[in-house]
Amino acid sequence: MTTDTPTLLRHAAGYALEYLDGINDRPVFPDADAIAALHTLGGPVPESPEDSATVLEALHRVASPATAASTSGRYFGFVVGGTLPVTIGAHWLATAWDQNAGGWTVSPLGAEMEIIAAGWLLDLMDLPRDAAVGFVTGATMAGFSALAAARAAVLGRQGWSVREQGLRMAPPVRIVTGAEAHTTIHKALRMLGFGTQEVEIVPTDAQGAMRADALPALDETTILILQAGNINSGACDPFTDIIPKARAAGAWVHVDGAFGLWGRAAPAVAEHLRGVEMADSWSVDAHKWLNVPYDSAVYICRDHEAVRQAFTADAAYLMRSDRREPSNLTPELSRRARAVEIWAAIRALGRAGIAQMVERCCAHARTFAHELGSAGFEIMNEVCLNQVCLRYRDDETTLAIMEAVQRDGTCWLGPTVWQGRKAFRISVSNWATTEEDVAATVAVLVAAARRFG
Ligand SMILES: *Cc1c(COP(=O)(O)O)cnc(C)c1O
Repeated sequence: MTTDTPTLLRHAAGYALEYLDGINDRPVFPDADAIAALHTLGGPVPESPEDSATVLEALHRVASPATAASTSGRYFGFVVGGTLPVTIGAHWLATAWDQNAGGWTVSPLGAEMEIIAAGWLLDLMDLPRDAAVGFVTGATMAGFSALAAARAAVLGRQGWSVREQGLRMAPPVRIVTGAEAHTTIHKALRMLGFGTQEVEIVPTDAQGAMRADALPALDETTILILQAGNINSGACDPFTDIIPKARAAGAWVHVDGAFGLWGRAAPAVAEHLRGVEMADSWSVDAHKWLNVPYDSAVYICRDHEAVRQAFTADAAYLMRSDRREPSNLTPELSRRARAVEIWAAIRALGRAGIAQMVERCCAHARTFAHELGSAGFEIMNEVCLNQVCLRYRDDETTLAIMEAVQRDGTCWLGPTVWQGRKAFRISVSNWATTEEDVAATVAVLVAAARRFG
């Protein structure tokens, strides 16, 4: 007694629609009972088969109530983005196709979609059109991949092949980054053999941007890591002041632009990213501001030879072609065809739609700052992109408000520490967020401030 495939998948689609339909009627964060009920999905390994329809029904009934409603327009935690409906559809199709996008010969579709999506991404962000683009899981792996290429290039210039000779006896490589570099940059560096204590830290200003006047002398053994879009403030490093100098000194410049690089695709905010195009490599998420499903990001690198040094791996059975071989650009061999959803998002929105989505999120962030600032909240950052960092009176009140808001369930936002003080963050990166969502969230915050403040 097994359900036939079309019936099964129609059920799944029905559950998904029911979930998305109800997204605004449920708490944005699951309640404790919903999370506790997840244990009913566990227990010993099932010994015998069960009808697939029952399996999916259990997911719908038990698991879906335990989700964080991060696709809701009132989820402002971290920087998570949402999912454009067209990208959910594209994701379903790509899953049904189950392409292994690691090689042209195993999936011409996977490789060719990457070529198209890569070209569109470079155009939208106005980055070098002939750069290499690798499709990976997130900005962590994008940073890792670009920095692996950087490591190969910087050592290569010193006559050292990290590919052939490894790292243990290698000449020194300097790593320089800002005090506000994202934690995953340090993680990526550690995975590449650079310890946290080896990293030279450049002080940042009140917005979290690197201070160009505090940059140490750089040379051709240096990898300089900049940031476009600080997770608290949205601030971008002063690219025009730093990158030309760094490159003239022979350093490799990487920019972590996990969400901020999307500002390049929105004329109204693109000024904050001026000069970023001069870098050697960039990392940017698609699952944040492009609003495609997890997990999805790209890294972009001018230097194809450095990418080859870092990632090419061949074997006779892999039947390499003279076409794009995606796995020669990324850490993974087998992987899903992420470019399909990126392609769908760009095709559905177009250049104008992407600019509008990014600008709308930034406008919502400014509304938050304006409304909450008027209501007595301290807006701690200059709201240049989509991030608002704020507090109310003192640490204790700030935390009390945030916890009350999280319990309330209308919206969700998370804590941070900004410039040594407790705060919370509002990140607007979801296509679905409306003015009503912003107003409802402001109302909850202001009510909590009245109660505790
Ligand atoms: C989110 C983020 C990352 C990490 O990205 P993942 O997609 O979670 O791996 C890195 N840097 C910055 C600036 C980010 O905002």
